[in-house]
Amino acid sequence: MITSPEQLFMRLAEQGIALPEQEKKEIEKAAGKYRMAVSDYYFHLIDWNDPDDPIRKQCIPSKEECKNPDWYSADPLNEKKYEHVPFLVHKYRSRAAFLCSNTCYTVCRHCTRKNTVMNEEVCTTEALPAALSYVECHPKINDILITGGDPFALPLKTLETYLAGFYSLPNVNTIRVGTRAIVTEPEKITDELCDMLKKYHPLWVFTQFNHPKEVTGPVREACGRLLDRGIPLGNQSVLLKGINNDADVLEELYTRLIGLRVRPYYLYLCDRVSGTAHFATDYQEGVALVEELRYRLPGYAVPKFVIDAYGSSGGKVTVEKNHVLEETKDYIILQGLSDHTAVKFRR
Ligand code: SF4
Repeated sequence: MITSPEQLFMRLAEQGIALPEQEKKEIEKAAGKYRMAVSDYYFHLIDWNDPDDPIRKQCIPSKEECKNPDWYSADPLNEKKYEHVPFLVHKYRSRAAFLCSNTCYTVCRHCTRKNTVMNEEVCTTEALPAALSYVECHPKINDILITGGDPFALPLKTLETYLAGFYSLPNVNTIRVGTRAIVTEPEKITDELCDMLKKYHPLWVFTQFNHPKEVTGPVREACGRLLDRGIPLGNQSVLLKGINNDADVLEELYTRLIGLRVRPYYLYLCDRVSGTAHFATDYQEGVALVEELRYRLPGYAVPKFVIDAYGSSGGKVTVEKNHVLEETKDYIILQGLSDHTAVKFRR
């Protein structure tokens, strides 16, 4: 794992690549502000001849991160407010998130959880009893998201302690794990890990692929190991300017994902997180892209476009085009999918 600009420059020098001095300074400055980590595997996906390489943009610090509108926040989802006991966020009626790790195999430059990932305060198993008793005392909570950071970056035994704890509660119906290890360090999805996970069914895994270049042979094998244990896989992409705000790129990504049996679930508008203004798109771009994907892809390959309504408990709000053009007492006029012509439908 590369965790500093010095290590990065050394690794590039080994490959005969020398970055301009000015760029090195910019990387050092951005990494001083938001820490860096890049797994060996993810690093090797970068094409250094391409200044717009989508992997590079997601993991190598850049000068753009230091240009920040002052209203961008380290905690855009306002999670601190809902952290009723340490590391347990209870924002929605039936769901709670347990932030069990502040480590990731690769720190994404667009990370929405900078508050956790850049934080020195680490969750340990000592936090578990209070979290369990909170969930037990709130019987409406029936779904637990184990997240971080990356839960799969924890020692296996520690992760199992957390899973077993929540699994033992009678009100917990489903457990979800949020991880990007599948994308950034697929070999960590070992048989041993998958065998452990399947003890805690119904367990779902949600990951984050943002570009077709991330769908590789090792990734296919990692997904297969999870799927073979009956663990459903969902994908939550982030719409990132210069990386995937393009219908061809998203079409290819989602076509590859359904080929892996990974269900595209959400496409997020990039949260307004500190250091990410250069990735931001307007929401209308996301609506138009999903509209185009609806035309190009089978329905189950098209994610919902959502905005996580920051600063409130608004949650993930789906934003989409209204296809009802007109309505009367007897009919509705729908916009057809294939050629956008109007279609009359009797109510
Ligand atoms: S893997 Fe998730 S938590 Fe970790 S840096 Fe990336 S977006 Fe943030």
